[in-house]
Amino acid sequence: MPKIGAHMSIAGGVSRALDRGSELGLETIQIFTKNANQWKGKRISEEERRRFVQRRDETGIDPIVAHDSYLINLASPDARMLERSLIAFEDEMDRCCQLGIQYLVMHPGGHLGSGEKQGIERVGEALKVALLEKEDTGVNIVLETTAGQGTQLGYRFEQLRDIITIVNLPHRMGVCLDTCHIFAAGYDIRTREGCERILMEFDRVIGLETLVVIHANDSKRELGSRVDRHEHIGEGQIGIEAFSFLLNHPRLSELPFILETPKTSPEAQVPMDVVNVSRLRKLIRRDQNEID
Ligand code: MN
Ligand code: MN
Ligand code: ZN
Repeated sequence: MPKIGAHMSIAGGVSRALDRGSELGLETIQIFTKNANQWKGKRISEEERRRFVQRRDETGIDPIVAHDSYLINLASPDARMLERSLIAFEDEMDRCCQLGIQYLVMHPGGHLGSGEKQGIERVGEALKVALLEKEDTGVNIVLETTAGQGTQLGYRFEQLRDIITIVNLPHRMGVCLDTCHIFAAGYDIRTREGCERILMEFDRVIGLETLVVIHANDSKRELGSRVDRHEHIGEGQIGIEAFSFLLNHPRLSELPFILETPKTSPEAQVPMDVVNVSRLRKLIRRDQNEID
């Protein structure tokens, strides 16, 4: 059965994300290992590391996925920015290693007008350097599909495939499929047929065995808008059918489905994670006979 989780805040320390996830009954979580809007993060103390590992074991939350900082751009044409991004990205890998986190989700980055092909080459080369320099961390890099806002790369499956090809360390690479992002990028997953077609396309271009994380988000904006705005499950332009299809797909049955939906809603009396988690859980068909 797929595991249901959400992105959790690390306010008060990384281990607090596990407390929060456990309170919500989550089976998996995603975290930033530091403030995502800053270049340098406070070092994780030995005491905090130990509490994290202890709470992970106590809660059984698994997998724990990390997401890198929003400032990092490994596709940047600016040599200084690229260097700065690489240093920050390698630090992210170190922090994951320290916490025993296997997966680091990252956005390929923006080419900033220098051209998609050049951007893809820069990300691929940078990730190769990072993986080789941080080989002993055992941390794997998970490329996230993007909405393609501005000059952001990763809005076509082919672009992720090309990055993976350049890196040429396939056992250290995975892909995170964000439902909101692919929809905004133009992949129509509103119907069962659409989902089937797009999953086949993913399999043909990248390979479904490379898919390791699903970001389960509905989309505020319309198909092909290239605008990245997350919405509560079933309340956006995608609708419930896509989530029902993906959660019950036999090839995705072992994957973590992680919500990055808004935490609040004007009308809601409870935290919206509770609502969105329950919406996803209700879609999972427990009886195998119901799967046609
Ligand atoms: Mn992301
Ligand atoms: Mn995402
Ligand atoms: Zn997004």
